[in-house]
Amino acid sequence: MARLTLDKVTKIFDDDGEQIIAVDDVSIDIGDGEFLVLVGPSGCGKSTTLRMIAGLEDITDGEIRLGDLVLNDIPATDRDIAMVFQSYALYPHMSVKQNMAFGLEESTDMADDEISRRVKETAELLGIDDLINRAPSELSGGQQQRVALGRAIVREPEVFLMDEPLANLDAKLRAEMRTELQHIQDNLDTTTVYVTHDQVEAMTMSDRIAILDEGVLQQCGTPLECYHQPNNLFVAGFIGEPSMNFFDVERRGSVLVADDFEYPLSDSTAAELGDATDLQLGIRPEDVVVKSAVEADTDYHAEVDVVEPKGDENVVHLVFDGNEPEDGTFKAVIDGMKSVDAGQRVAVGFPENAIHVFDRSSGEALR
Ligand code: ATP
Repeated sequence: MARLTLDKVTKIFDDDGEQIIAVDDVSIDIGDGEFLVLVGPSGCGKSTTLRMIAGLEDITDGEIRLGDLVLNDIPATDRDIAMVFQSYALYPHMSVKQNMAFGLEESTDMADDEISRRVKETAELLGIDDLINRAPSELSGGQQQRVALGRAIVREPEVFLMDEPLANLDAKLRAEMRTELQHIQDNLDTTTVYVTHDQVEAMTMSDRIAILDEGVLQQCGTPLECYHQPNNLFVAGFIGEPSMNFFDVERRGSVLVADDFEYPLSDSTAAELGDATDLQLGIRPEDVVVKSAVEADTDYHAEVDVVEPKGDENVVHLVFDGNEPEDGTFKAVIDGMKSVDAGQRVAVGFPENAIHVFDRSSGEALR
C-alpha cells in the first residue's frame, strides 16, 4: 500500500545562526494512488516538504511513513520513490533510451530484457517511442520533459514526487502536458505529490490540494472544497482567479456595515457568525451580479472602471460610490455576451448564499 503519511513534520534550517522554520508541524495523509498537489506562494515550504519525502533533506521533527515503514532514516536511494524536477537533468551524452534505462541499470540487478521492455512500454505511453535514439539536445523542451518523466515511470516506484515539472514549458504545452500527466497518473495509479505555485494547475490536476503558507498547512481538501469552503482568508485569497474581493466590515446586530455600505443578513446567516464584530466580507468575482438597475435592498450602485474581455467572459472592474477599493479594484466576472462599458453606472448584487465572512483578527472563516 503506497499510503504516504506526513505526521507533524517540521524542518528548521540553520542559516548562520538564524533559525528558519521552513515547514511547521505539517500533517497530511496521502491515500494510495492519490494525486496530491502542494501549492502556495514562493518560500512557503513546498520544495522542502517534497525533498524531505524524497530523502534529500533531513527531517527536524515528526515522521514520514510509506505504509507502515518510517522513512526518516532511510537513504534517498533506498526509498521506493522517484522524483521529477523542473530542470529535466538529462544526461546530455546519452540517448533517450539510455537516459531512461540508466537508473534501473545502476541501482537494480534487473535483467536487460526487462529494462528494455519497461523503457519501450514507457516510451509508448509518453508518445516518444520514435525519439528513443536521439540525444537530449535533439529534443524540444516538451519532449525532454517527457523523457524526464519516463525516467521516473520506468522505475515503477510506489510514489512519484514532481517539483514544478511543467514550469519551463510555454503556456500551450503546459496545458497539453497537464492533461497528459493526469491521464498517465490515472493509468498508472501511482501515489503522486506534485508541487506548483500555479493554482490553475493545482485546481485542475489534483484529487486534493494542500495549501501552505509560511510553512504552515492552511487547508487540505478537494479543489472544490478549497474553492467553496476556504478555511481562512489566506486560502480564500489564494484559490480562485481573479481573486476573491474583500471588504472590512463591522457587524452591528444582523447588519454588516462599512463606510457607505450596509448589508443586512438573514437570521440564519447572522446566527452562523458568532460574537465577532470586526469582520471581513468576501465575495468571488464570479458570484457578483452586475445588473442595469437596483432590484433589492442588498444591491449597490457602482461605476464600471475597466472592462477586460476574456472571450467567453468579461472581467469588470468596479468602483462603488464613495468607496475607493482598499487593495486594488473590486472585480466582477460577467458573461462575455453581456456588454458594459467603462464609465457606465450599474447596480451590483451580492447574493447571500455566495458571501464569505471571516474574523478579521484570526482570519478564520465564519461561513
Ligand atoms: P519556491 O516556490 O520559491 O520554490 P518553496 O515553497 O518551494 O518556494 P522552499 O524552497 O521549501 O519554498 O523554502 C522554504 C523556506 O526555507 C524559505 O524561507 C527558504 O528561504 C528556506 N530554505 C530553503 N532551503 C534552505 C537552506 N538550505 N538553508 C536555509 N534556508 C532554506
